[in-house]
Amino acid sequence: MTDYYAVLEVSRDADSKTIKASYRRLAMSYHPDRNPGDKAVEEKFKAINEAYAVLSDETRRSRYDRFGTVDDNAVFGSDIFDIFASVFGTNVANMSGGRGRAGGQPGEDLEAQLRITLEEAREGATVEVEVERLRACHHCHGERAEPGSAGKSTCPRCGGAGQVRVQAQSIFGAVITARTCPDCHGDGHVIPTPCKVCNGRGRERGTDTVGVTLPKGIDGGYRLRVPREGNVGVDGGQSGDLYVYIEMRQHPFLERAGDDLHYTLEVGMAQAALGATFDVPTLEGRERLTVPAGTQPGSAFRLRGNGMPRLRQTGNGDQVVEVKVVVPTKLTAEAREHLAAYAGAVDETVEEQETVADKVRDFFAGKGKGKRRGRGQARADDQAGGAVDAPGGGGAQGGREEGQATKPDGRGSQASA
Ligand SMILES: [Zn+2]
Ligand SMILES: [Zn+2]
Repeated sequence: MTDYYAVLEVSRDADSKTIKASYRRLAMSYHPDRNPGDKAVEEKFKAINEAYAVLSDETRRSRYDRFGTVDDNAVFGSDIFDIFASVFGTNVANMSGGRGRAGGQPGEDLEAQLRITLEEAREGATVEVEVERLRACHHCHGERAEPGSAGKSTCPRCGGAGQVRVQAQSIFGAVITARTCPDCHGDGHVIPTPCKVCNGRGRERGTDTVGVTLPKGIDGGYRLRVPREGNVGVDGGQSGDLYVYIEMRQHPFLERAGDDLHYTLEVGMAQAALGATFDVPTLEGRERLTVPAGTQPGSAFRLRGNGMPRLRQTGNGDQVVEVKVVVPTKLTAEAREHLAAYAGAVDETVEEQETVADKVRDFFAGKGKGKRRGRGQARADDQAGGAVDAPGGGGAQGGREEGQATKPDGRGSQASA
């Protein structure tokens, strides 16, 4: 087993700054471009980058500390030069420019937007995203030369060197400098008969579906890097990366706040006062929640562990259930009577109620229009036509009650799915 701490020449309790500084120092001196052709140096450089990829990432480092291993192919599958470039910046990564020549022209990075659901984020699903990108030309398979033609030949201008020497004037006098060959653009080759489909570019535009595996607990605003899913490279150059920007879809009944999920539970006045047990819908099904007697509006209860997984950590957040006490806006005669009796019992002064005699008088005063009015409307409303339609508000009320009833049902169908 490789001792990553030894490779980076740091102690086991080194902080991230120390690790990065040590990495910079070692990576610069072991960079293959500084030691061309030296296999041992190349191996050492690889080891340094592997070690840094693990120790610079908190999750990987703690896994490595605990288990002595990192089961993460992504580290070792990704190009070690990417790690180098991420620390030093891309310009330094291609230190002599030699890498670009030897490996062809790398493909460009691409960006994509991905909208995901809470459920997908919770389980760490693999979600497909459509990407319009440059891929290898179907006709020449990225070879750039027309199939059946002579293919590539050595560039006559630079003789295959990819560079030409030019004389320039400087304050020190005439100096000879090397420039990239304008004919072959540093490739060292030219293609006398370019592919007719891609005009010798080797690539064509197309739309592909890329599977993106989400880390558990990912939230909107995060950017995921999917290695090698950007534009394809030219002449064997590596494909670019795909950067996926995550956006969360609105959930029908849960609101996300970091690792916690918020749910509003509508509780009746009597239920809040006397206590009641509810079936609260969660992301994974339902949880029983007992609201104790004397619960106040705005009180919150926590369903521990029913929130989102903590990104790159262990455990889950909670589901926070916020109590909304619903005051009835429409009462049956019986309910009104009981409520008035309750008010009397606790000595609460309430408005005088309409009697049956009042209603009969209202009926005749409004010439029958008033009969559709809800009970308890102020008499002044009588004359206004708009006010007569106000029981439409009562209809909305009914809708709210309905909404309350369908919520657990909706959850039930989800749980069974
Ligand atoms: Zn082609
Ligand atoms: Zn050339």
